[in-house]
Amino acid sequence: MKDKVNIRTLTSNQIQEWILKHNFPKFRAKQIYHWLWKKVRSHFSEMANLPGALIDLLDQSFFIDTISEDLVQKSDDGTIKCRYKLHDGHLIESVLIPVPSDNRYTVCVSSQVGCSLDCSFCATGKMGLKRNLTAGEIYDQVVQINTLCQEHFDHALTNIVYMGMGEPLLNYRNVLRSVEMITSPDGLHMSPRRITISTAGIAKMIRRLADDNVRFNLALSLHAPTDDARSKIMPINESNNLDALEDALEDFYRQTKNKISYEYIAFNGINVSMEDARALAKRCKRYPVRVNIIEYNPIGLGGFEKAEEDQIDRFAQFLRTQNVMVTVRRSRGKDIDAACGQLANKD
Ligand code: SF4
Repeated sequence: MKDKVNIRTLTSNQIQEWILKHNFPKFRAKQIYHWLWKKVRSHFSEMANLPGALIDLLDQSFFIDTISEDLVQKSDDGTIKCRYKLHDGHLIESVLIPVPSDNRYTVCVSSQVGCSLDCSFCATGKMGLKRNLTAGEIYDQVVQINTLCQEHFDHALTNIVYMGMGEPLLNYRNVLRSVEMITSPDGLHMSPRRITISTAGIAKMIRRLADDNVRFNLALSLHAPTDDARSKIMPINESNNLDALEDALEDFYRQTKNKISYEYIAFNGINVSMEDARALAKRCKRYPVRVNIIEYNPIGLGGFEKAEEDQIDRFAQFLRTQNVMVTVRRSRGKDIDAACGQLANKD
């Protein structure tokens, strides 16, 4: 496999060039592209309308970076976590979060194997970074979970969030390419408005999203309203402080008008005091932003406890009195380690 090229890193034009260089008719490129992205085949031999000589040549020159199902776990609340094996043996996880009452079926996808950012409350961060996922590997998670969603709930996926393992903006090119194929008529043809990329906060990459005029929504994992508190739990805050992030997000909103949200895991004694609520409300004035407060699931990392429900409710209520848009999300998939910050390839 070493000398072979991952064919899904090629654009349709590049496949066409390759086809013409090897003296096959141009329409073969379109057929190959269709098999790769629409039909998501893992072997060239499955591309039934290609001649044998072309299949052999494809086999000698390329490989396909498909992912394969390794473990599926279903939570009591309907959440399904899937572990996938990559072509080089690495493992990643994706989570299907169904909310049938709202007709909402969301997949949470991974963008890296592990993560380099080491947020202190996160199991993925403890793994370190193994490698970036390819666009194909990100895309395949959506395809596979979509199939699972149809099988279990008789419904297609409605939303995609890049909130699984890894920091999406540190795998910028592949993440954007995966979005391109998820939204393309050559791929899944979903609306970019149904996609949210979640970042721990890298100001210069947020500006790059703005300059690239992307069409998807952006979530910032805020988790604390002051630099002092945030730097203690998210080391990335030391080089990307809250003012720098707000400037970049304002730029993002001005240029794209896409939705912005703040993810805010409620930790007892760390970020849900009334003082925190006041500081957070002040941080919600510069551009329209929704705050999603998320119940924490203890994962055995020292120093973090779940905030009580009434404490969360008081915190949320204060924000509402300050005209901040707030949603409180009860945690999903706790019993299978599928909840926020729990993805770490455990059985
Ligand atoms: S919370 Fe996100 S950015 Fe932080 S270590 Fe975990 S996966 Fe990485």
